[in-house]
Amino acid sequence: MSKRSITVIPGDGIGPSIIDAALQILDHAGCDFHYDYADAGLTALEKHGELLPQATLDLIAKNKITLKGPLTTPVGGGFTSINVSLRKKFNLYANVRPVVSFEGTQSRFENIDIITIRENTEGMYSGAGQKRADDNSSAEAMSIITREGAERIVVFAYELARNEGRKKVTIVHKANILKSTSGLFLEVAREVAKRYPDIETNEMIVDAACMNLVMYPERFDVIVTTNLFGDILSDLCAGLVGGLGMAPGANIGKDVAIFEAVHGSAPDIAGQNIANPCSVILASIQMLEHLGMADKAAQIRQAVAKTIAEGKTVTRDLGGHASTTEFTQAIIANL
Ligand code: NAD
Repeated sequence: MSKRSITVIPGDGIGPSIIDAALQILDHAGCDFHYDYADAGLTALEKHGELLPQATLDLIAKNKITLKGPLTTPVGGGFTSINVSLRKKFNLYANVRPVVSFEGTQSRFENIDIITIRENTEGMYSGAGQKRADDNSSAEAMSIITREGAERIVVFAYELARNEGRKKVTIVHKANILKSTSGLFLEVAREVAKRYPDIETNEMIVDAACMNLVMYPERFDVIVTTNLFGDILSDLCAGLVGGLGMAPGANIGKDVAIFEAVHGSAPDIAGQNIANPCSVILASIQMLEHLGMADKAAQIRQAVAKTIAEGKTVTRDLGGHASTTEFTQAIIANL
């Protein structure tokens, strides 16, 4: 049987080193993928004169599954975010960000296991109606929620909850104030929830959700919400389990899925071999689960958990002194 091909975008800054760590681990776990490498971000701009070359888009479309390092979006010069372009281009409507406590990380809480599912294409991030008055005295932007967009993300959340044996979905909204947009989202979410009587449904206003997440995170299981709230809440959740070094994310559409770390290219530590590779490794675990390779995913997750719990060979953001390479080798040894 021919190997499954995955598109790999090493990315910018710390990207190539942490992607290399993740691929080494996938190979040692016997995943047997073929990797098609593609450029994007600053690396692509320097090599090919554009941030997101057509050849990269073609490879993403061809293989359907992409593992991506963080990309640097140059400041100024009218560049739009590459990540936003990718979401729009491939209609990656679901942003799935799981956070799980690992013993040995210096986080405030233990036993956290929350998945935030953020609508990735609508709401305040649809980019519509951006206007600034000529004299800079006012600015406006449009938030758009469609019934179709709300329904597909809420269905996605309940299906994921059901498939992963999860018990509860919390719908986060602000329908008391944003009566049209958040109101429609909540109305559609309530309709969808009725189709899943086996899963407990909880509704929470976004400000209350923030307070409850930092006080009682164990009460949350799956969260589903609109674009802006999801962006903020998923970073809040990353903070609950020890920060950006432990936070993966998947952008999922009907045909294409892109798996990545939540953090950026960390130019301040690039080239120093000290970046924590775990976010991208955890993203590759999400990719394996998406591909139905649950055994391999569990094997790698256990090796990561064991290495962090041992605490001897971890990077400095986790309280250790190991390099990216040493941390990766320790995980491989624990596979
Ligand atoms: P960042 O996430 O790159 O870095 C924030 C801080 O966290 C830095 O101090 C960095 O050293 C640290 N950090 C990040 N990842 C780490 C890791 N794996 N191990 C140890 N420390 C880590 O955010 P930023 O500095 O605001 O952004 C830098 C660039 O990344 C920008 O060009 C931004 O546009 C881009 N970015 C890309 C993505 C993406 O591609 N998904 C996401 C966010 C930011």
